[in-house]
Amino acid sequence: MLMKEFFCPTLRELPAEAEVISQQLMLRAGMIRKVAAGIYSYLPLGYRVMKKLETIIREELDKAGAQELLMPVLHPAELWKESGRWAEYGPELVRLKDRKEREFCLGPTHEEIITFLVRHELKSYKDLPLNFYQIQTKMRDEIRPRFGVMRAREFTMKDAYSFHASRESLDECYEKMYHAYCNIFNRCDLDYRVVEADTGPIGGSDSHEFMVTADTGEDQVLYCGDCEYAANIEKASARVKVKEMPVKPKKEMLYTPDIKTIAQLAEYLSVPEEHTIKTLIYRGEKGEYMALLRGNDQINEVKLKNALQENEIEMVVDDSLERPMGFVGPVDQKGFKIISDNLVMKMDWGITGANEKDYHLTGVIPGQDFKPQIIADIRLTQSGDGCPHCSNPLRTARGIEVGHIFKLGTKYSQAMKAFFIDADGKERPFIMGCYGIGVGRTVAAAIEQNHDDMGIVWPWPLAPFQVIVLSLGASDEINNVAENIYKELWNIDVETLWDNRKERPGVKFNDADLLGIPLRITVGKFAKEGKIEIKERASGKTEIVNIHQVVQWVNQFRKRKGE
Ligand code: ATP
Ligand code: MG
Repeated sequence: MLMKEFFCPTLRELPAEAEVISQQLMLRAGMIRKVAAGIYSYLPLGYRVMKKLETIIREELDKAGAQELLMPVLHPAELWKESGRWAEYGPELVRLKDRKEREFCLGPTHEEIITFLVRHELKSYKDLPLNFYQIQTKMRDEIRPRFGVMRAREFTMKDAYSFHASRESLDECYEKMYHAYCNIFNRCDLDYRVVEADTGPIGGSDSHEFMVTADTGEDQVLYCGDCEYAANIEKASARVKVKEMPVKPKKEMLYTPDIKTIAQLAEYLSVPEEHTIKTLIYRGEKGEYMALLRGNDQINEVKLKNALQENEIEMVVDDSLERPMGFVGPVDQKGFKIISDNLVMKMDWGITGANEKDYHLTGVIPGQDFKPQIIADIRLTQSGDGCPHCSNPLRTARGIEVGHIFKLGTKYSQAMKAFFIDADGKERPFIMGCYGIGVGRTVAAAIEQNHDDMGIVWPWPLAPFQVIVLSLGASDEINNVAENIYKELWNIDVETLWDNRKERPGVKFNDADLLGIPLRITVGKFAKEGKIEIKERASGKTEIVNIHQVVQWVNQFRKRKGE
């Protein structure tokens, strides 16, 4: 491909809208262009990288025994009503009507469609297990589309769904997919961490996320430096010791005028925050709740939502409840279901709101002075907390979630009545697993991890081209040498870009660096002496190589890259 013919509109200026480096570089290198918020076109350079990744994904999934198919983007509402998600899924689901006023949605994920397919086609345990995948467009009307293709509203996902007659068969497939995912991200040369994850609205039991480590990552991960434990903060738990407390004071009202926050209360009473009990009010679809935490802890709303079995919850911070906000507490309260964090129940006593303006109550004994309906881990795990496996201090890191695998169980097959006949002749719901990879997000994550001040530094397996030949000067000799190298490299299937534009050398060097092509071959003043220069983009190392040895040199480099 000739650079002058290749549609790759590079930008000199930093695009104002770009918040993260991958988004800046994808725009500047002419990989993508924005159409609307969270909606992008991939230009030829960007699409070449996508296809590279898709090939790696296909190879690894085929190896793991999954079969590729393709499902539609447009889904009839009936199937989503059958699963219950028509009501459960919030405004992220793009809903629309056809000309006959029939309801549809644009698929954000495909459990309903695959379950519908399978329930009509598979009848017996003898047909199982089966694992299907597709690489296809997903639509999610994200509340905050941002970071370019990383959190888009329309994006490409590889999604896979497996069907099993037994739990063991699901476990086996899950394990295989776990390894296939490791192979995929290893082959992309990405630094990543596999973490335990919350299952979110898709539901199910076990779940792992594949997190590419990056400071700009939206996700926070807690991991143990000593053992294997790693989890998304949404899911992470910890072993925390509740410190011994001083002798319990008499249970009595304390006058605490205008003292509404835990920090103010602790300071006003000269007690540590962990001697207080924080009361948060939440509203869900099924009711109103009082969530209790130790004063020094923060709430984990994902854990809270799961423990309450609510789809959506919202913290109440205004005066809509006709309660003395800032002074509410669990003792002698009416109207709220109380959910308490495990650690609160381990406190000997605590200070809570007294349900009266300007008063708190001290000497309150959890379990005696109030009895929560639910006791669960609803606390946000923090860096320094004890690892739940080995008690050593947990550390935090940021990551970009590029893949997610779930053991779904029978959530969808049960709801959608997708049954098979088991070996004992009984009808049972299929046991399912599902497995996703964000294709565009992985490309962006690869850039977050592989760039420098000059531009992208593609890992060899994802590079849109592997070599860029620059001819500096317009002499026939230089042109002939460059053209020969260019052709010979294509002859051995090295994807090569030839920049023979009439541009200044500086412009060509800058573009080559910005595009991040792993090897740059410069044909210039040494051509007369039968030599050219090869520069490795990643290390910056240069080497002067004999023209006749160039192809062999590149071939050997390619082999070292594992191709
Ligand atoms: P997130 O928590 O980031 O919103 P999710 O848990 O909703 O992700 P899944 O439903 O597990 O995502 O989707 C599978 C994969 O699809 C994710 O691991 C991610 O790589 C990708 N993905 C999800 N949402 C988006 C998006 N808005 N833009 C690009 N890729 C996405
Ligand atoms: Mg999401």
